[in-house]
Amino acid sequence: MKLVLATSNQGKVREIKYIYEDMDVVAYSDLIEPFEIEETGLTFKENALIKARAVFAALEDKNVIVIADDSGISVDALDGEPGIYSARYAGVDANDRDNLNKLVDALKEKGVQSSKAHYTAAIAVVTKDAEFTIHGWMYGDVITTLRGENGFGYDPIFIPEGYDKTLGELDDKTKKSLSHRSQALNHTKAVLHSLSKQMR
Ligand code: IMP
Repeated sequence: MKLVLATSNQGKVREIKYIYEDMDVVAYSDLIEPFEIEETGLTFKENALIKARAVFAALEDKNVIVIADDSGISVDALDGEPGIYSARYAGVDANDRDNLNKLVDALKEKGVQSSKAHYTAAIAVVTKDAEFTIHGWMYGDVITTLRGENGFGYDPIFIPEGYDKTLGELDDKTKKSLSHRSQALNHTKAVLHSLSKQMR
């Protein structure tokens, strides 16, 4: 059973292929011309479903499983911001560093040096007969000083619960064992195995 990823982000493709090593995993951009998908949802779940449905609809072969993910960070002191807007917090053309700097500035404006925060990942699974969504979370604190070079996005300011280092300082293996995306992808395995048995 082919598992089509509704992303052309090579980092995500690698991560998903690693977790689903026993499945036939392919990025949709290797099957059809990649296209813009507007993320108009108000939740991570809605945006993941929008992406998975759009790719499923565009594929010729309907005997496949499409999965999409949507993720971001929510900061308590900022009433849950940036949330679903994490990738575009500092504007539509913003890069990871612009978004991170904007978050640090927003915390400083509030007069706080740290805040409780959490990452969320929503995975949507779409086939011709069914749709599923599965979530994973990672809780911790954000701080206003950048520490470490590992990871991406908001990792240099995020300290996972139970640790005293940021994800920028922790190694890749530790992050994988904790991350919102790994948890959601691991939970999704059970759904994929049962679907692939039904669709064989
Ligand atoms: P997506 O590609 O629409 O899911 O965008 C997710 C955005 O959330 C990314 O651009 C990052 O800014 C942020 N993000 C999600 N997961 C992580 C993570 O594991 N570390 C750091 N930032 C993350």
